[in-house]
Amino acid sequence: MSTDLEAGMKAEEYKSGYVALIGRPNVGKSTLMNTLIGQKIAITSNKPQTTRNRIQTVYTDERGQIIFLDTPGVHKAKNRLGDYMVKVAEGTLKDVDLVLWLVEPSTHIGKGDQIILEKLKEIDKPVFLLINKLDTIPKAEVLPVMDTYRKLMDFAEIIPVSALKRYNMDDLLATIFKYLKPGPQYYDEDTVTDQPMRQIVAELIREKALYSLQEEIPHGIAVLIDSMKKRNNRIWDISATIVCEKESHKGIIIGKDGDMLKKIGSAARYEIEDQLDAKVNLELWVKVRSQWRDNEKLLRSFGYRKEDE
Ligand code: GDP
Ligand code: MG
Repeated sequence: MSTDLEAGMKAEEYKSGYVALIGRPNVGKSTLMNTLIGQKIAITSNKPQTTRNRIQTVYTDERGQIIFLDTPGVHKAKNRLGDYMVKVAEGTLKDVDLVLWLVEPSTHIGKGDQIILEKLKEIDKPVFLLINKLDTIPKAEVLPVMDTYRKLMDFAEIIPVSALKRYNMDDLLATIFKYLKPGPQYYDEDTVTDQPMRQIVAELIREKALYSLQEEIPHGIAVLIDSMKKRNNRIWDISATIVCEKESHKGIIIGKDGDMLKKIGSAARYEIEDQLDAKVNLELWVKVRSQWRDNEKLLRSFGYRKEDE
């Protein structure tokens, strides 16, 4: 028989664990993680596959600590970079305590989601189905979507959410804590990511480039930080190179009279200043390296780490 005191103590037990976010490209994984953490870390865009590395962020409150792993979308690998992303996504599933599967609010289940479903059926841990983008459909359409998915596998929970509009975020956090086991606080409470600032800066520049370039250069760019130095407490000097695949792409990225590069640079600078809480002097360069997506050595120099494979 448990006393009130014991029950009270149980409720306060500190919990922690690793939670993977999986889902097709563009379903809202990065947005959800950024919303939960409340600070921009993973880049988001309306083009699929913008998240290339596994990104780890940390949510901490008095209930405990959740470490989120944002995985690149599972999709058919077309080249080595694609291969790499699929392997990272599959590897992540093995290391976590809980899986959040994000889907579009639709009764149609596409091929990408079929592949994910098969993988999730093989793992022996709780899976939450998150029906995201709830803000884009009428309320009455949610139930049929839930019913469609419920028939496919035994989900621990099914939760409709909107990562963008922050619907059901408190509910989601509370439910995650319900499933996590008592555990240690892995990181300081003010840690929000294990990503080095350099990588965040590179990703922000890449995000701004993707936005500005529209459909012209789908995924053929990478960003390298050549140097990043603190001049004094108020100013950072950053030099970065945008690497693309073709001379013609280089021309587009630079733009007429350098207009495009200026646009990318000032948009990126604005957000980097916000992240660093300082003024930033940003120098951008553009270089051509053909076929970089298939070149393993170059991939590694861009930070696609071997241990993630
Ligand atoms: P990821 O590829 O799964 O990481 O997807 P992103 O987080 O990059 O999001 C892809 C696009 O979907 C972006 O344009 C987001 O703004 C948008 N998005 C994400 N969540 C929601 C949502 O809840 N509602 C709406 N309307 N759009 C969303
Ligand atoms: Mg993403």
